[in-house]
Amino acid sequence: MTLQQIQNLLQYLGYYTIQVDGLPGPGTTAAVKAFQADNGLDADGIPGQLTQKALVDAVAKGRFKPSDRPQEGQGGAFWSDIKYFTREEFRCKCGGKYCNGFPAEPQEGMVRALDTVRAHFGKAIIPNSGVRCPTHNANVGGVSNSRHLSGKAVDFSVPGKTASQVLEYLATLPGLGYCYDIDGTSVHMDIE
Ligand SMILES: [Zn+2]
Ligand SMILES: [Zn+2]
Repeated sequence: MTLQQIQNLLQYLGYYTIQVDGLPGPGTTAAVKAFQADNGLDADGIPGQLTQKALVDAVAKGRFKPSDRPQEGQGGAFWSDIKYFTREEFRCKCGGKYCNGFPAEPQEGMVRALDTVRAHFGKAIIPNSGVRCPTHNANVGGVSNSRHLSGKAVDFSVPGKTASQVLEYLATLPGLGYCYDIDGTSVHMDIE
């Protein structure tokens, strides 16, 4: 595995947040160490065979950084107020094929609104689609000016509720843009 591939995997998992350049440096060493520490490996910062195998495993299983609390400059300070969601849950679902997962940041107004919806219904909500890169958006049939491209939209469903019941509640919330019924169960919600 090349160092560039290692950086790509670390980035996908949320450990490496600077530019992927294939060159060794303190940022890469720190990311390797953090990944090793979280995965029960000797945290020496050297991405050897065991570390590479663990990286591939982690990506295959979608095991992201346990404390995926975005750092400063990564998504914004508002995440510390968000009770029910992590930034990871809004990652583009192309699986790293066409983007690094966050071609745009999930926008504060959208995430706060979803947190409010979650609190209101008292049921776990898993975002089906958050941020999308243009290729993934096209692949799932999204319109070319979709607000998913700018991190302003999320598709989700509330267990035990129909889309119209959810939309009825969304209509009472301020600051929302266009919200609609996708399939009777899931809704699309966005902000201006
Ligand atoms: Zn993507
Ligand atoms: Zn949508």
